Amino acid sequence: MEELKNLLNKSENGYAKLTEEQRAEMNGYCKRYAAFLDACKTEREATAWAVTAAMSNGFKPLVSGMTLNPGDKVFYNNRNKSILLAVIGQESLAKGANICASHIDSPRLDLKPNPLYEDAEIAYFKTHYYGGVKKYQWATIPLAIHGVVYRADGKMIDITIGEDDTDPVLYVSDLLPHLAADQMQKPAAKVIEGEQMNVILGTEPLCGEEGDTVKLHILKFLNEKYGITEADFLSAELTIVPAGKCREVGLDRSLLGAYGHDDRVCAYAQMEPLFHMGTPKHTAVCILADKEEIGSVGISGMKSQVFEYFMETLCDIQGVKLRDCFAHSFCMSADVTNAFDPNFPEVSDRRNNSKLNYGVAICKYTGSRGKAGASDASAEAMGHIRSTLNNAGVLWQIATLGKVDQGGGGTVAGYMADRNIVTVDAGVPVIAMHAPIEVVSKLDCYMTMLACKAIYLA
Ligand code: MN
Ligand code: MN
Repeated sequence: MEELKNLLNKSENGYAKLTEEQRAEMNGYCKRYAAFLDACKTEREATAWAVTAAMSNGFKPLVSGMTLNPGDKVFYNNRNKSILLAVIGQESLAKGANICASHIDSPRLDLKPNPLYEDAEIAYFKTHYYGGVKKYQWATIPLAIHGVVYRADGKMIDITIGEDDTDPVLYVSDLLPHLAADQMQKPAAKVIEGEQMNVILGTEPLCGEEGDTVKLHILKFLNEKYGITEADFLSAELTIVPAGKCREVGLDRSLLGAYGHDDRVCAYAQMEPLFHMGTPKHTAVCILADKEEIGSVGISGMKSQVFEYFMETLCDIQGVKLRDCFAHSFCMSADVTNAFDPNFPEVSDRRNNSKLNYGVAICKYTGSRGKAGASDASAEAMGHIRSTLNNAGVLWQIATLGKVDQGGGGTVAGYMADRNIVTVDAGVPVIAMHAPIEVVSKLDCYMTMLACKAIYLA
């Protein structure tokens, strides 16, 4: 009887296996992660945070031709939008690196280049949504503005409004139900349309002036506080994100609700073990990429040659060919997946979907329809990650992103595999991914951090 039971692939809620010591570690880890989320709502803020944290943990900027010994820690700040870090291993880079790659951009509303206008004596910013959003979710919630403006004099101005308890917040309106007879018949994609994602800035006119006096009043405020003019919006990166902090969710506090778990939950899981690492056997590499939500494009996305630049600079120092390093490397593409949601069971195959509290979710393939766009890890790659996580005592589970033909998604995995690097997707299961507030389980966050640590040390 016992022998037969061993034939079954038994999965178990992670809380059944979590030790008291691990529970304490998990809670401490999740507090630190929540503080990171509160400080970082854009890729720019996450990069700045990572640079500061890296430097205080002994990382130095990577410089071509510098001397590097095992245990040395280096980073490359990619134009304040993405960051690559490495801890040099005992083995030569010719034996490959252990890489964890995630992304630090999240869906949001970007300001248009010419955003400010007035209509019916209300001042607004026009926005352009970034990434996959259900637009109606962004109406009638408190919003904050984060970003930078380069003034005509070349000075960069940092702007964050809406996060402090005494700050005002911004707002996108929706229609009252009393007058929504037509709207309620529309498909969800059209309930609030792209050109209706206009953010309310103010209503008080600058009395005694001519023209759009409410808009002028907002410009006067911006000029007095930040020294900027309307033309400066062209050289700005200002984004609208949900206002507020990460909160514990549930009476048992087992979940975390916040903006931007996708994918800062994996980015943080990659950073913490790297910061406190001794000398690994193989060089450990951590990539926090930008632009994943819009296809990993651009100079700060995972398709960018900045990754080759970083790795080849390391390889040159050791007299190793980049292609030899890539051919022997392993990458965990650390990105979130969908957690099974019993409110919407129809979109998932319950036997293959990740579940809250079952640990880090390993995804053999993403993509859609007939696996289109999937990197699709081999049996060998899956065997490697399985044994690595088992040996390190990491709780993990299997994941597929929804039912066949229901939809799908992608990660940076394919772009790593394209470089001749064996790559597997794994990450944290999320409820309501891409919503203004997403929910994850503390246990899964903690296990994903342990998984990153195990990959670095493999
Ligand atoms: Mn993601
Ligand atoms: Mn995403």
